[in-house]
Amino acid sequence: MCRVPLCHQFAGMRSRTISVPGKTAIRPLPLPPLKRDISLFLDLDGTLVDLIDRPDDVRADAGLRDLLTTVEGRLEGRLAIVSGRSLAQLDRILGPVARSLALSGSHGCEYRLDGGVEQPPRPAALDLATEEMRRFAERYDEVLLEEKTFGVGLHYRLKPEMEADAHVLAGELAARYGLFLQRGKMMVELRPHGHDKGVAIRHLMTTLPLSTAPPLFAGDDVTDEKGFEAVAAMGGHGILVGPARHSAAGFRLDDPRAVRNWLKELIL
Ligand SMILES: [Mg+2]
Repeated sequence: MCRVPLCHQFAGMRSRTISVPGKTAIRPLPLPPLKRDISLFLDLDGTLVDLIDRPDDVRADAGLRDLLTTVEGRLEGRLAIVSGRSLAQLDRILGPVARSLALSGSHGCEYRLDGGVEQPPRPAALDLATEEMRRFAERYDEVLLEEKTFGVGLHYRLKPEMEADAHVLAGELAARYGLFLQRGKMMVELRPHGHDKGVAIRHLMTTLPLSTAPPLFAGDDVTDEKGFEAVAAMGGHGILVGPARHSAAGFRLDDPRAVRNWLKELIL
């Protein structure tokens, strides 16, 4: 658990409460905190790299790989990637730098820390659901199937008119096979119940050296809200990447380019 006085660490940071009929929401402010006495958790897609039409084609460029290596050094190892991608995908996207970072993949289903991998057994239900999603994707050229170690997704960014059909299918499969349905940006995904990015960050915050400083988590998608809630509960803060929306994050950056610039300032 965190051993630092969390309130003190973030004294003076701002957030703004907005009252709307029936509920209260926090509007994320544009300036994230710049402190090195933090443990930093970063989503990948839409946060460090731009979302593209074909998710399998995403690769970290040399600039990003170097930046992550430098940030990891400046934070004395308190940097983790928390992604919906599998560990295998993170290795392929990030290259060798992935080996030096703490990783949580597949929305908190799997972890790699100090080279050791933690993974539960893959549910057989995922294979059954994958086959049905594959048949659906094969009927429509531009609906893409994404197979993960602990999940399967349909991407319809290239064919947005298939959104409703994709969600109906995913809903039916989730109910039939006892899987969790996750909506994302122009995609829908099935994965085992009981895992999310909040679970991932809470688990990583029990490990050294991440446990020694309050957490910041940057992410862009609705799947990141559980992570924002988790870091807030631990005295840290979320950074929403993208347009302002109702969010548990208290800060906001416009896009992956702004995140990279913020990271560069962090290491100056
Ligand atoms: Mg993302």
